[in-house]
Amino acid sequence: MSENGWPADRIDTGSAHSARIYDYLLGGKDHYRADQEAGEALRREWPSLPVSMRANRDWMHRVVRHLAREEGIGQFLDIGTGIPTSPNLHEIAQAETPAARVVYVDNDPIVLTLSQGLLASTPEGRTAYVEADLRDPAAILGSPELLETLDLGRPVAVTVLAILHFIEGEEEARGLLRRLLEPLPPGSFLALSTATGDFAPEEVGRAAAVYHSRGIPMVLRSADQVARFFDGLELVGPGVTQAHRWRPDPAQGPAVADREVAMYCGVARKP
Ligand code: SAH
Repeated sequence: MSENGWPADRIDTGSAHSARIYDYLLGGKDHYRADQEAGEALRREWPSLPVSMRANRDWMHRVVRHLAREEGIGQFLDIGTGIPTSPNLHEIAQAETPAARVVYVDNDPIVLTLSQGLLASTPEGRTAYVEADLRDPAAILGSPELLETLDLGRPVAVTVLAILHFIEGEEEARGLLRRLLEPLPPGSFLALSTATGDFAPEEVGRAAAVYHSRGIPMVLRSADQVARFFDGLELVGPGVTQAHRWRPDPAQGPAVADREVAMYCGVARKP
């Protein structure tokens, strides 16, 4: 244990982890040397990677705002949350809907360690953190923290942002999404973003190889493969697109080129 009572001995500082690489490339401070080295190797192979990550993060802001404001969603289940950064998902949701409830899930112990940063809810709303794995939907849906925080009789938006590319196998990934959505009522939503090599195949392919060489899977998917994640759901406009093309907001900064963004995204309603 660290002096804060955190399980510091569970944090594997010797090898790169996806949450910490993401933090490093987005300019955060919660990473170790192995993550910096992986981040630098990634940036050498594909200098636009931080631009792509930022486009994903900006899309998260827009999609959560859309779900809260336009779709009336007041409950969020965010799987693969990442290291806290500002603003976090609940801050965006609660800025629209102060009573919004958000459950965060990640399987990296560093995110648990830093999860206090995810729990500063509005008084009207509520937040919780669950340490669990996307590959075990039953553990997520059955966790006491989730059941105390979310009312599964009312619509929930499941957000699976920049994490499905760590899951190999189309059947496997689709099955996980199906099991997560299954117990949720009509009017619930699925929002996801995931990596693609479609717009800069060589560079993004080399970056994916850097992840692989560090023991981290990185699956690059086509638009058709991503669209199939929404089978049985109703995609909201504009459908499956690159992250920067989904209802862009000029206030978020200058437009970026397609070749700089290796993320497809989509949002769909459960009928
Ligand atoms: N969703 C955030 C962070 C993405 S980084 C965003 O879009 O900005 C990807 C996160 O997924 C990391 O924090 C990593 O620890 C987590 N992750 C990767 N595989 C996971 C799994 N199988 N189960 C739960 N979390 C996972």
